[in-house]
Amino acid sequence: RRPMEGVPKIKALPDLPNNKIAAGEVIERPASVVKELLDNAIDAGASHIAVTIEDGGKRLLRVNDDGMGMSREDLHMCVLPHTTSKLLTEEDLFAITTMGFRGEALASISAVSKMRIVSRSRGSDEANEILVSGKVLETAQATGSGEGTTVEVRDLFFNVPARRKFLRATSTEMGHINEQIARAAFSHPHIAFEVKNNDRITQSLPASQSRLERISKFYGAELATDLFQINREERGVRLEAYVAPPAQSRANANWQYLFINNRYIRDKYVYHAVKEAYRGLMEHTRYAVVFIFLDIDPHAFDVNVHPTKTEVRWSEPNLIHSQVLSALRETFQQCDLTPQLSTHRVSGNRPEVSAEEMNRLRQQMAEALKSTPPRTSDAPAFFNPDRQCDIGSGGSGRRFAYGGGTPAMPSRETIDAFFRKPIGLSGASIPNSERAAGDDDSTFDAASVGGGEDIHYSGGPAQRSNPPAIQLHRMYLVTETEDGIAIIDQHALHERIMYEMLKRRITEGPLEAQRLLLPESLTVTKQQAALLEENESLLTQLGIEITPFGEEAVAVHSFPVLLKDADVVSFMRDLVDQLAQQPTSMSSEEAIHDVLDMMACKAAVKAGDPLTCEEIESLIAQKDLVEKSSNCPHGRPTMLRLTKSDLERQFKRT
Ligand code: ADP
Ligand code: MG
Repeated sequence: RRPMEGVPKIKALPDLPNNKIAAGEVIERPASVVKELLDNAIDAGASHIAVTIEDGGKRLLRVNDDGMGMSREDLHMCVLPHTTSKLLTEEDLFAITTMGFRGEALASISAVSKMRIVSRSRGSDEANEILVSGKVLETAQATGSGEGTTVEVRDLFFNVPARRKFLRATSTEMGHINEQIARAAFSHPHIAFEVKNNDRITQSLPASQSRLERISKFYGAELATDLFQINREERGVRLEAYVAPPAQSRANANWQYLFINNRYIRDKYVYHAVKEAYRGLMEHTRYAVVFIFLDIDPHAFDVNVHPTKTEVRWSEPNLIHSQVLSALRETFQQCDLTPQLSTHRVSGNRPEVSAEEMNRLRQQMAEALKSTPPRTSDAPAFFNPDRQCDIGSGGSGRRFAYGGGTPAMPSRETIDAFFRKPIGLSGASIPNSERAAGDDDSTFDAASVGGGEDIHYSGGPAQRSNPPAIQLHRMYLVTETEDGIAIIDQHALHERIMYEMLKRRITEGPLEAQRLLLPESLTVTKQQAALLEENESLLTQLGIEITPFGEEAVAVHSFPVLLKDADVVSFMRDLVDQLAQQPTSMSSEEAIHDVLDMMACKAAVKAGDPLTCEEIESLIAQKDLVEKSSNCPHGRPTMLRLTKSDLERQFKRT
């Protein structure tokens, strides 16, 4: 039953205690307006919705629908607080079938903008218009218009300067708006959507596309073709899902979409089930890409728990958890995902692009890029690598300063040399079996004498000045300290050293970059392109140079030397995800530290990498450099210490 059918429509909400808990501010930025207006158009039964945006929604947002429209009386009611046509009784609140129900959105939006609504209800021959400016009704009159409703929101926060000031760059706001449009488009595939941004049509989605087609429209065919589709119906729960193979994992959860009865929801039970389903198939720090659509009896959950309506309270959370988990698990078992344990991008399995085609594309791209005229310094700021970058130069001495009393930091040249050949990293990837026995007389391979595990010793010969250290399980280094022994996590320590070096090095100018022979192309969404644009100076600082390539891709031209062994595309993906995760209030300095942390993690030796004795020595030698500065990037210890007295106590020598 849709409560919107029938004649008497908008009413003031009775004083429902349940609705009170959730009262609050829902309009935070242009994208929140878009979300509310789309919800209203969907609730009005629209089959075609057009969205118009100017200046990232800061100047204008307009949503036009061909839904049921409003009468003259309703038009006057709808902008008043707590008026809705969607709840008739308190009972309705426990089985919500509409996107809206709080009767708050239009009132909140009209209080902070100049809002014009034109509406004509179905079957009526009269259209009406009202104009409300910051809560004040300016105009109300009859007008001419087709059936349906148009809501126009101009100059958002014009009367709340503090809020207005807080709005971000147009591209950023656009990104958030696109995200809201994507959510509406994924969850309502039967509705046609058209999006116009600054007079250009940027999205045109015909009615009755499949969900997969829509995902492909927003996130590209590359991702869409990799998705596994799941369809299930069980114990009153209908589940439709599109889940990516583990190799498509991301660095944040922004790619996990959950819709419950077509409403976008963030739910810890479902997310947990997803994590469980992927357990063992990818690193635990990664997030799977999933689009999950659940259809459930509205009595089974409560969506009136948060003003933005993006959370639910389940009556039986375990049931939904186990249903999602088993659906995903069974799918993975059938698909035999086991060989794809690597976190690197799998380049196989994409029948539609042959190697030949790929080469042709790359060639084409290289040609196209060669013919681009050189940039001048007055070129637009976007992706201009010549632009001076201000991160970390001046005024930031304290932040970047190295903690007192630590050993002298090496010079910029030394650091660059270090990054070029981090602890002789290239040697680290040579499988043990390839190392000729006796090749290096201080390397001792226990496997060859039946130990079963790799043990590498360093410091054998007498001339070495550092205490001896050994590598155990290709994971830990054990060494002598002044008053006992230390057990070091090789990855954690190396990551830590790299982080400290990077933090220091970045204050002295962009990282050393290496030009790629052929640019790598990276597919991006509009939102991601906007993020990259906004973080251009940060990229420059990291030695990454990119240019837009077509509508939905960027070309990567140069890349930091220290990541020479990393996969460019997967690093860029993670970088974009990380940028997306950063809270809007974050300063560029904080942002760069997070990125450096990620780079350090990628560039550091991994657990499982065998190390040569030089590498072990080099790591041990540098441990003092990082020991003194206490905050480890991931808050994880790099080293465990046992003092002689600990040992004595353990061995009951005392
Ligand atoms: P809610 O959606 O929670 O009811 P809103 O403030 O968003 O609250 O809208 C108030 C009322 O205005 C709605 O209940 C609906 O009756 C009417 N309304 C808003 N937008 C539209 C629209 N696009 N078409 C028809 N009616 C609308
Ligand atoms: Mg609404």
